[in-house]
Amino acid sequence: MPQIEIVEVGPRDGLQNESVLLSTEQKLEFIRRAIEAGVRRIEAASFVSPKLVPQMADADAIAAGITRREDVTYIGLVLNKRGALRAIEAGLDELGAVCAASDGFAQRNQGQSSDESLTMCCEVVRLARQEGRRSQITISTAFGCPFDGEVDPQRVVQMAKIAASAGPLEVAIADTIGAAAPREVADLVARVRAAIAPLPVRVHFHNTRNTGLANVWAAVNAGALTVDASLGGLGGCPFAPRATGNVPTEDVIYMLERSGYRTGLDVDKAIQTVEWLASAMGRELPGMLSRAGNFPPKARAADI
Ligand code: ZN
Repeated sequence: MPQIEIVEVGPRDGLQNESVLLSTEQKLEFIRRAIEAGVRRIEAASFVSPKLVPQMADADAIAAGITRREDVTYIGLVLNKRGALRAIEAGLDELGAVCAASDGFAQRNQGQSSDESLTMCCEVVRLARQEGRRSQITISTAFGCPFDGEVDPQRVVQMAKIAASAGPLEVAIADTIGAAAPREVADLVARVRAAIAPLPVRVHFHNTRNTGLANVWAAVNAGALTVDASLGGLGGCPFAPRATGNVPTEDVIYMLERSGYRTGLDVDKAIQTVEWLASAMGRELPGMLSRAGNFPPKARAADI
């Protein structure tokens, strides 16, 4: 069974659609706790307009406050060249550039056509390379658009090919609104994989229609090597109406590890982080494992 890498996206995708604003200190604590649970690649912030996404207004302060470690990659999400320059200036290790497979979403999310968003991503990858940073490209609305409806998988495959030719670390396909079902996930991961090999495929799912974990399972069995997830299942998207949280990191770890995949994360520490996060957010989070507990349960001292 291969190792599956989990990218923790809670501090960015998770928090950006929450009405509760965490302080910069709380966000840094979230990041620190995620790393303590074994996360080694983490979306720390997005470098977008604070007018559009006020939750990310402290991106520069987050970048300044994170503890630099050789073994941890901090990702800054960007939607244009200006954001990329900010993320580079802030010292992020990796730039995550996002394009959209549909014009409707590309226009509303980043004021570009789908083609323009892809061109921008390729420019960001080149810019990152010049500056000695890692970079990756995510194709959002790969399984459906809240404005345009169905998205042609062939369009996603073509975009992935062009994205791959720019030379990122990987190409991700994202179910931005949580519309996908496992069979189409398996099909699209296989097609994108064949189109961009040897570059790996990353996947990004939201659990809007409760298919998130099933989609992760379909994706890893179809050869996706990296999975985005958010502790507690925090998250959404300000420009995707009714999109709910990402797949919960701790639920993904549990499912994969009990199925023989290795993730490198500690599920018990992940649960502890979710408990901390739920109290910081002031509400119960949608992830299930933190409510039910790990299995088998650890024997309590009194039982021994
Ligand atoms: Zn997302």
